[in-house]
Amino acid sequence: MRIDLHTHSTVSDGTGSPEQVMREAAEAGLDVVALTDHDSTAGWDEASATAADAGVAFVPGIEVSCRHHGISVHLLSYWHDRADEGVERMLAATRDARVDRAKEIVRRIGEDYPVTWEAVSERAGDAATVGRPHIADALVDQGVVPTRDAAFEAILVPGSRYYVPHYAPEVNQAIRTMRAAGGVTVFAHPGADTRGRIVRTSVIESMARAGLVGLEVHHRDHDLRQRSRLADLAERLDLVPTGASDYHGTGKLNRLGENLTAPAEFARLEAARGALSSH
Ligand code: AMP
Ligand code: FE
Ligand code: FE
Ligand code: ZN
Repeated sequence: MRIDLHTHSTVSDGTGSPEQVMREAAEAGLDVVALTDHDSTAGWDEASATAADAGVAFVPGIEVSCRHHGISVHLLSYWHDRADEGVERMLAATRDARVDRAKEIVRRIGEDYPVTWEAVSERAGDAATVGRPHIADALVDQGVVPTRDAAFEAILVPGSRYYVPHYAPEVNQAIRTMRAAGGVTVFAHPGADTRGRIVRTSVIESMARAGLVGLEVHHRDHDLRQRSRLADLAERLDLVPTGASDYHGTGKLNRLGENLTAPAEFARLEAARGALSSH
């Protein structure tokens, strides 16, 4: 069983439609795949229909942008009720804040490079969630940088004078909100310390107390030292260790299935779901 629980589509900052991502998942030989766009579940219906057709088991998911004392934290949630009012209010606030924040980043970059909000918004297309990758794409179009990666390194990285953060809910509040809606939550790439600051172990302990179910241990942004630290931590806190690709289509090097979740660990996530829905 090949299980990949973290992928993105054009609903957020991936480059393939939900249908394409599911077709590619089947071609990559995956048996189970989750779609986890940033702050939106708008891709679920298309992905679910295509996955059924392509013979892949679909897991409805999301990657919720959160914060803990100014540090960005990404929280995966699976199977939650998308119609839940608390969930939708929380996500809508983030998506709205992202638009104003992207406009401000574009305004700042526009003082030095040829980029406009119109170009970025065209690049974002039908995306429900606007992000820095769309700004990167507009910069690539203008020939300012060759790739998304280069745009991040040179211009979009936190700490650059163009960078602006956006509103995001406090992480333990987000865990409780997703859980109340039946969501099984997993901390995404908790040790990705080359892309920004990461939270301390004591914060992960507090997340576990708030109802966190799993830790994404096997991820491209974790070196071996991080993987072994996080695997030990998952064991100590009785959190489910997962692995996933964080596929973004052609927007990142990450390939579908490059990291996987063990079937026994996936069964633990499913059991946590059952435990939530039975009371
Ligand atoms: P934002 O959500 O707008 O803050 O942008 C963060 C997103 O940018 C992450 O979800 C990543 O998918 C993407 N990202 C971060 N670093 C890179 C990079 N070096 N190359 C391509 N995409 C990146
Ligand atoms: Fe992303
Ligand atoms: Fe993430
Ligand atoms: Zn992701």
